[in-house]
Amino acid sequence: MASKILLPEDRIPKQWYNIVADLPSPMDPVLHPATGRPVGAEDLAAIFPPSLIEQEMSQKRWIDIPEPVLEKYLLWRPTPLRRAHNLERYLGTPARIYYKDEGVSPPGSHKPNTAIPQAYFNKIDGTKKICTETGAGQWGSALAFATSLFGIQCEVYMVRVSYNQKPYRRIMMETWGATCIPSPSDRTETGRSILSVKPDSPGSLGIAISEAIEAAITQEGTRYALGSVLNHVILHQTVIGLEAQQQMEIIGEYPDVVIGCVGGGSNFAGLAFPFVRDKIKGKDIDIIAVEPTSCPTLTKGAYTYDFGDTSGKTPLLPMHTLGHHFVPPPLHAGGLRYHGIAPLVSKLLVENLIRASAVQQLDTFAAGLLWARTEGYIPAPETTHAIAMAIEEAKKAKDEGKEKVILFSWSGHGLLDLAAYEAYMEGKLANYSLSVEEIQEALKELEHLPKPKTT
Ligand SMILES: *Cc1c(COP(=O)(O)O)cnc(C)c1O
Repeated sequence: MASKILLPEDRIPKQWYNIVADLPSPMDPVLHPATGRPVGAEDLAAIFPPSLIEQEMSQKRWIDIPEPVLEKYLLWRPTPLRRAHNLERYLGTPARIYYKDEGVSPPGSHKPNTAIPQAYFNKIDGTKKICTETGAGQWGSALAFATSLFGIQCEVYMVRVSYNQKPYRRIMMETWGATCIPSPSDRTETGRSILSVKPDSPGSLGIAISEAIEAAITQEGTRYALGSVLNHVILHQTVIGLEAQQQMEIIGEYPDVVIGCVGGGSNFAGLAFPFVRDKIKGKDIDIIAVEPTSCPTLTKGAYTYDFGDTSGKTPLLPMHTLGHHFVPPPLHAGGLRYHGIAPLVSKLLVENLIRASAVQQLDTFAAGLLWARTEGYIPAPETTHAIAMAIEEAKKAKDEGKEKVILFSWSGHGLLDLAAYEAYMEGKLANYSLSVEEIQEALKELEHLPKPKTT
């Protein structure tokens, strides 16, 4: 009865999996905000390097992972597949609970799976500096780590509320040589205009994206990078699921349920998409994306066109969204506070290949604490959403007397989120669900934007 299933280094995936090649119907195109026509490579050239634009638009099923990227991946990959024996015993469930441990990377989450190739492809395409945004700091620290390995400068716009609440991730970024700026900042037109109206703005991911894009466009040799949502990011994350498939095979298991938490959708997609491929071919798998009730993009948002950022600088993405001006309440799972979601994840929800579920903040922390006290590792507040759902599924298996196999994405550790655990243990956290009225109000701004053909 294995506790951890380790893959030898030589079985690290040599290609990423692109689910676009297997979709039951074509994606709604990404639109240029000014012309309303599908964007082309030339529209993206101001912010992304050509090799990543090619991946963003690729229809090829398998894309080779370059040797220098594999070499850096080997710093921590393949990651362990672990079995939560102690939690199973505590719950008295017949379910077998496996989790893919992405917390073992140097910055402590799944995000370097894409930060490394993004830094590499920028390097070979001549980028000197990369600007980006970060919420709680996981993406900023992953990119700071990756750019340091490839000798590229890194400038990170960090949502101000997190910048103030979470100094340790800023210090990590600075340790890896990056510059970290609280957003909104006075460095950009977007930041200045927001500060002039609201000097104490706590910031949001949408605002920080606007700032980072503006900073990239206005500086020489500089490009922008996004840590989630886009096709090329999701592509890179599929190493998670491709490894997990091999690891499950080694022990003769196959999941009945696959679970991941969703902010922009990348760790969920990274684990789930290789299994969605099996599902498209006929496998019976329940695949669940889990989000907070306070930012219920997939469960309560609309599937429509929206901007990726607050100030409307990005192309229009076909996705579930709460509106680009939506600023979620300051819940502690900072990585799950994005107003939109990856178009590929939205597409699979619309196609009923996956389903979505929302959990309350207090339930997620209760799950995180139970996990820490049974399995030992302290999960990121984002990850506790997946854990809460895995526990729910394990309890259901118990009620039904079924030997279910549950697999979930352990997207990162929570060792830099201990203040959130403290707030929970001191009884300072609350649940928060958006009302129907609040959601309708937030979605009003989308009425004048184009609508996707698929609904
Ligand atoms: C960023 C982050 C998330 C959410 O982002 P996705 O793109 O949805 O994966 C989840 N968990 C951790 C630990 C993160 O750092």
